[in-house]
Amino acid sequence: MKVPTATPIDIRIPAQDYESEGAIKKAISEHIGKKVDDISSFEILKRSIDARSKTIFFQLRIAYSLKGMPIISKTDYSKSYPTLDNKAPHGVIIGAGPAGIFAALKLIENGIRPIVIERGKDVRSRRRDLAKIHKEHLVNEDSNYCFGEGGAGTYSDGKLYTRSGKRGSIQEVLELFVNFGADADILVDAHPHIGTNKLPKIIAAMREQIIACGGEVFFETKLTDIIYTPEKQIDAIEVIHKNEKRHIATKHIILATGHSARDIFELLNNKKIFIEFKTFALGVRAEHPQQLIDHIQYKRQERPSYLPPAAYSLVTQVKGKGVYSFCMCPGGIIAPCATNPGEIVTNGWSPSKRNNPFANSGIVTTIDDDILHEFDKSDPLRGMKFQQQIEQLCWALAGKTQRAPAQRIIDFIAQRKSKDLPDCSYQPGLVSVEMDEIFPPAITARLRSAFIEFGKKMKGYLHPDAIVVATESRTSSPVRIPRDSATLEHPEVKGLYPCGEGAGYAGGIVSAAIDGQNCAMAIVNSIKERTFSTN
Ligand SMILES: Cc1cc2nc3c(=O)[nH]c(=O)nc-3n(C[C@H](O)[C@H](O)[C@H](O)COP(=O)(O)OP(=O)(O)OC[C@H]3O[C@@H](n4cnc5c(N)ncnc54)[C@H](O)[C@@H]3O)c2cc1C
Repeated sequence: MKVPTATPIDIRIPAQDYESEGAIKKAISEHIGKKVDDISSFEILKRSIDARSKTIFFQLRIAYSLKGMPIISKTDYSKSYPTLDNKAPHGVIIGAGPAGIFAALKLIENGIRPIVIERGKDVRSRRRDLAKIHKEHLVNEDSNYCFGEGGAGTYSDGKLYTRSGKRGSIQEVLELFVNFGADADILVDAHPHIGTNKLPKIIAAMREQIIACGGEVFFETKLTDIIYTPEKQIDAIEVIHKNEKRHIATKHIILATGHSARDIFELLNNKKIFIEFKTFALGVRAEHPQQLIDHIQYKRQERPSYLPPAAYSLVTQVKGKGVYSFCMCPGGIIAPCATNPGEIVTNGWSPSKRNNPFANSGIVTTIDDDILHEFDKSDPLRGMKFQQQIEQLCWALAGKTQRAPAQRIIDFIAQRKSKDLPDCSYQPGLVSVEMDEIFPPAITARLRSAFIEFGKKMKGYLHPDAIVVATESRTSSPVRIPRDSATLEHPEVKGLYPCGEGAGYAGGIVSAAIDGQNCAMAIVNSIKERTFSTN
């Protein structure tokens, strides 16, 4: 006889009771009108914090079983992949970011052998180049915070929330992260987060799986050309590995090179492969003492140990244009994310425990043709050129090293230069520069109004020690590489699958991973169709 299992329920318990099994069972018993002793087991399926009132609650979705029902046991998320030999059809993936790696795993699952081409180094070797940016102000244009194994996702914060659930299964992506070593808590938390310290191991495990299944991964190998037939069917790629050119024959390329691969946008534009300007976001990274954010968000003097370092999310409209917080990192570090010497780019990360003394967040605004009025409207690279101009200006104004321009927020609002700057997590160092020297007036006016508004929404946000650091410019791609909505191929070049954040189809780790999986499935379907029609 099949024993019935109970439908999951939603309960709220005071945050301080969260660790107590007895308190959770009591809350379940009150919710379902049974005795505590009748509940034999439970599992937390989803967890979020409700800090709107003085008493802070955990909102929980819980599966439970009563006596006589099967005991709820931990789900096994391990996944096995087939091993493929050289006779299996292959697909080439350019870029080993989340889009490229998840595409490779999806191809393997479907019997197609991935060949992954990555300009940067493996996760371990990459670490040395990151240290050089911090300590020696040297940016390696192929190995940095954006380029290298795992892409911009590896030394990122590893926040795994997205709104792109309609494009694919967020759950599948999260389960794969768990399969490769992430804590299963990411399946439960409303705002899952892995942390920079844990991501490299997970990414390396994914690569080992790809190779164990017969796939190939080439590091320090850069795509330099795309070769197609007169009928515009992909035929081969040209890559450079240690100054040596090589051709790889292929009919299918997933182009997942990320939003910072400016040479790829230029390559496509020079070859007259259709690309278009896309609105994107740009602004500053704001940093506050974490204690201050905890105090504002939790409405108490000290953050109790049962609560995580607090986050925030802010959004406003200034004269019809959005200004919003982006990639907020509680207990985080502001990272130097330039991909070329001679530019300054900020972003943020945090370790899994989020235990640094600062909270940082991008505060960005939409960049559209109203801002770009001085650029040629027919140039698809105008957004990228503007982005580059601002990054180079930051570098020049802050002394031509990786030190970044910064200003206290209260001084930015008052339009005066900061006499001095407080401590900051940005390791290469800061230089006092007025944001008005960097951005066009339309952008500073918007940011200024938004900060005043944010100060009203979060009392204390305009603290004297709160600063802005410039420039947060790589939040999204300034270019879209178009594709057919059904086949996911470029409308002009058959076999070319623009993918992930760089092509304009993702905005974060999970959405890039989902897009990678979708492009892989598009190749699978195309190969199946071809096999079917030749049989
Ligand atoms: C510091 C930082 C923190 C972030 N924090 C978060 C976060 O917490 N949560 C979140 O969701 N997102 C975060 N992001 C953004 C996230 O990392 C990206 O959205 C995501 O990585 C995009 O994935 P992708 O695969 O499309 O591209 P990318 O990750 O950019 O990968 C592209 C890959 O292509 C390679 N490549 C480029 N050109 C070539 C070429 N010519 N030949 C061969 N290879 C090439 C690059 O080296 C790179 O490895 C963060 C980004 C940064 C930089």
